[in-house]
Amino acid sequence: MAENRRRDGIPHLVLVPCPLQGHLSPMLHLAGIFHSKGFAVTLVLVQPASPRVVTSWVSDDFFLESLGGSGSDIPDVCEMDLMCFLNEVNSKCKLPFRDCLTRLRMNRLKGHKLCIVYDAIMYFSAEVSNELEIPRVVLRTSTAANFLGLSMLKQKACLPTQDGSAKAIRELIPAMRESDMPVFDKFCPETTERVLAQIHESTSTASAIIWNTLQALERTPLHRIQSSLSPPIFPIGPLHKYQAQDPRRCRRRSLFTADTGARREEDRIKCMSFLDSHTPGSVVYVSAGSLARLSRSELAEMAGGLADCGQPFLWAVGPSLEHGDDVAGLVPSGLELSRAAGCHHPRAPSMQGLAVAWAPQEEVLAHGSVGCFWTHNGWNSTLESMTEGVPMLCWPRVGDQKIIAGFVTRVWRVGLELECDGDGGLERGRISRSIKRVMVGEEGREIKKRASEMKETVELALSGGGCSSQFLGKLVDFIQLL
Ligand code: UDP
Repeated sequence: MAENRRRDGIPHLVLVPCPLQGHLSPMLHLAGIFHSKGFAVTLVLVQPASPRVVTSWVSDDFFLESLGGSGSDIPDVCEMDLMCFLNEVNSKCKLPFRDCLTRLRMNRLKGHKLCIVYDAIMYFSAEVSNELEIPRVVLRTSTAANFLGLSMLKQKACLPTQDGSAKAIRELIPAMRESDMPVFDKFCPETTERVLAQIHESTSTASAIIWNTLQALERTPLHRIQSSLSPPIFPIGPLHKYQAQDPRRCRRRSLFTADTGARREEDRIKCMSFLDSHTPGSVVYVSAGSLARLSRSELAEMAGGLADCGQPFLWAVGPSLEHGDDVAGLVPSGLELSRAAGCHHPRAPSMQGLAVAWAPQEEVLAHGSVGCFWTHNGWNSTLESMTEGVPMLCWPRVGDQKIIAGFVTRVWRVGLELECDGDGGLERGRISRSIKRVMVGEEGREIKKRASEMKETVELALSGGGCSSQFLGKLVDFIQLL
């Protein structure tokens, strides 16, 4: 493999991830996959990485560059509208990225062929690669159906609302509903329209599209997209599953958790020991992803519903735990908060639930004790759940989450929609009832059976002759010839 990297004519890959967890993870997995296939890789971070991590991470054919410190001052996504965040990141990173590439071409990568592989939402990379005449390949981190939904919204010029766009999707996938369409009504409409248009443009004009999805799951939407876009599409997902055995993977992950590494390790140990202490299939795992900030009343209803359902639960509270004291005051007794003083030991028999700021989700979902994942249906979370055959309780909120939940509940039928009150709000009685529907009874058993079959479908896709594995082979050949 090492000779491959040095062979003339094989492009050096410059990967540009987006600094949001749900986008960063798939690009990191992709970096590992490319590296294992013999490509030399430079990962360009838009934020500074600590020197300690940089020196422990890079190797002779895996490099790290940071745009931080050369003028790109990245805003905090928690402080602003997501679309405005993307708009700012893209405008602030363009010049530093061009400078970075120019410098690399004059020094370390002098004489090398290059190929830029970028997250579709980092569309500044496409502009720079056009200017510098470097071929580019785009990574899509959500579903093909979501892209289709967005394209249709765009054609009908009805962004950012969801009106009137489901009809065309329903012709392809009859189970879809109007309310499943991508939702952007929480964001600034003008910025949303501009950002989504740029993302679409950066996708449709790339040399190729890598998709973190599976043909086995999205044959119809993928076929429809391929018939209208010229770049070849390579659905090679789920990206997180290729390198489960790669020892470097842990090191790579630490790059992005350097500041919080010790706290996360503490949470990890608590989570796994909590799961070890429960019987197979009994635990409800809860997470609304890496971005959602839940209101005080939502947290209270969640805590109440979890306590009432009678099942053990592991709750990754996420960014909402910044208000740790509030949560501590809301949760029922017996629920441990990782940052609360004087916690009970997680193995204590009285402990029905454990709440942590962050959970090692892939590991959690692979643990036999987990019987259900109450999720916001971010695409990574959904893929991770399906990969492990875990039934889902779906609570989609914004962006692509509704269309993903629509597929989970009505197309793949590996989960149920969380019951909400008339206004779509959380209510503890309905939460408890929904959990019981997934965890016990005939309906739950049917879902579990389909979820187990889903796990096999994913395993097959990744095996030698499987669809994702075959597309990966074709992708490697394609990039080698760019
Ligand atoms: N994640 C995790 N631990 C947590 C919360 C999230 O490991 O406590 C990971 C999760 O495994 C997934 C990603 O963060 O890979 C979240 O991505 P997703 O697309 O599901 O949702 P987003 O955070 O983008 O809304």
